[in-house]
Amino acid sequence: MQKIEDAAPGNLVSLETEKGKFLAQGFYSAQSKIAFRLISRSRETIDRNFWKERILKAFHYRQKVVNQTNAYRLIYGEADGIPSLIADRYADHLVLQTLAQGTEKLLPLITEILLDLFHPSSLILRNDLGVRELEGLPPEKKIVFGEWPERVQIFEGEIRYWVDLWQGQKTGAYLDQRENRIWAARFLQGKVLDAFCYQGLFGLHAARNAPQILGVDSSPEVIEQARENALLNGLTNIEFRKENVFDFLKKEVDSGQRYDGIILDPPAFAKSKEDVAAATRGYKELNLRAIRLLNLDGILITSSCSYNLSESKFLEILKECAKDAGAILRLIERRGQSADHPVLLSFPESYYLKCLFLQKIR
Ligand code: SAH
Repeated sequence: MQKIEDAAPGNLVSLETEKGKFLAQGFYSAQSKIAFRLISRSRETIDRNFWKERILKAFHYRQKVVNQTNAYRLIYGEADGIPSLIADRYADHLVLQTLAQGTEKLLPLITEILLDLFHPSSLILRNDLGVRELEGLPPEKKIVFGEWPERVQIFEGEIRYWVDLWQGQKTGAYLDQRENRIWAARFLQGKVLDAFCYQGLFGLHAARNAPQILGVDSSPEVIEQARENALLNGLTNIEFRKENVFDFLKKEVDSGQRYDGIILDPPAFAKSKEDVAAATRGYKELNLRAIRLLNLDGILITSSCSYNLSESKFLEILKECAKDAGAILRLIERRGQSADHPVLLSFPESYYLKCLFLQKIR
């Protein structure tokens, strides 16, 4: 145990009041604006056994809340008491991200415990993301254990899809939307647009009920994968198109197209507080066009994964869009991220995904 003045980056330190009263133990970060990340409010010993217990707790919680899939978030950082560690499970493969100096230092021990507990066939480190810069950590991608699988087949409810753990976005898939994707399908009928479709998952679920689905994404690789996923599920009523959604929606409005269901799942527009104004304009433009494109009784499934844009602000934006479109929207469901991404009340940043199910009733 060390005090901050003599601690090295990423060390375990104790936090005390100015008078020397013990407050908590946590990771010290020498570079980030977040100098201390809480691990425990007691003086308990933080050793291999301590971390093993936290990992086991995380796993037992997932055993209760995760169903209908073999891909889920096993460890969600602070919400599982392991600050800045992400571990996602895809079938029998594990993908890790260490997002702070303390977790980075702990990686060999965490890896050893994960291999011991779960015997994965591979363990991949996907540290190729920008937020690590804030901690003075370089981007890195490597196979820590086992052999890199070219692609992994995942099931989610009634559908199956391929994941590329090495090149895919995030750790390979957007696991946080899983429950919303499965649940949304029951509301979608007729002609459905899956905008910002990535691997096509919202649309694939919907295609089991609705007769005509179109998925749109601007990334060519993604479109190729989404088409393969349609084949994998034997679905012929779903098409994918490579296009910028902003331009696509404008064209559709201009040419008088109509849809019975629209899914909007854009990337985070407000990555920082400074982006909120521009992000608001982006969400407004997308949602306004989507509402215009909806038939009466049509369903809008609209998401924002920007932590910096609150749920109430997002609802406010939707209210304004409805007004501008001369429509009346009914809120059917107000949802968040899947239960394997639990929210810590004392750490509001852990609640980032908002997903609203709305119906255009007039
Ligand atoms: N709905 C998906 C996740 C979407 S992630 C799921 O449930 O799995 C956001 C997607 O938007 C990414 O695939 C990215 O390639 C795409 N994207 C980003 N900007 C875009 C734009 N302007 N037009 C179309 N697609 C875009």
